[in-house]
Amino acid sequence: MLRKLFVFLLLSSALFGLNACGNARPEESCNFVQNSSAQRVSWGDHTPVTLYVDRSFPAELFGAIEQAVEQWNSARGRGLIKIGGWINSSSGPARDGANVIYWMSSWEADRPYEQARTTVYWAGDRIYEADIRVNAKNFRYSMGAYGGTVDVVSLLVHEFGHVLGLTHTDLHGSVMAKSLANATERRVPSPTDIDSLKCEY
Ligand SMILES: [Zn+2]
Repeated sequence: MLRKLFVFLLLSSALFGLNACGNARPEESCNFVQNSSAQRVSWGDHTPVTLYVDRSFPAELFGAIEQAVEQWNSARGRGLIKIGGWINSSSGPARDGANVIYWMSSWEADRPYEQARTTVYWAGDRIYEADIRVNAKNFRYSMGAYGGTVDVVSLLVHEFGHVLGLTHTDLHGSVMAKSLANATERRVPSPTDIDSLKCEY
């Protein structure tokens, strides 16, 4: 017998920050991650952020990365993110000074519903590295809204939002909503997302 499943897929971020001491002035969040002094963390003037693509990523889906980058750059009318090209990473995701997208064939057994994870490292209020892992063990991907698969463009738009410092919100059609259903395109940053960006970029 067939069972109909509605799988809501979790996209998550892992955050590693060193917080500044001294007279740090709190800021409103604008939907950004904040440090322990309630300041937004971002790349500040250090844009565009260069993302490299690990050789584990399927070559036929490379266009999805370019499309997702273009969504953020056109949303703000300038280059926030750029692609640095392919990279060979022998050791896998690590804090190594490079921002890398990995296609993971293994995934933690206790987190099978996590589609992807972006790890962001910062010091004070400045992000200095971000790495993306895509869960290719538990999910299938395509470019577009096809049954049983995740639209990889929509997934990457969301994860690139984390790279820029954004956190989750379910408000107003945001691409930063924490769930993305199968066969769903959610690629265009909403007016709320663009307003958030303007706080830092
Ligand atoms: Zn997320």
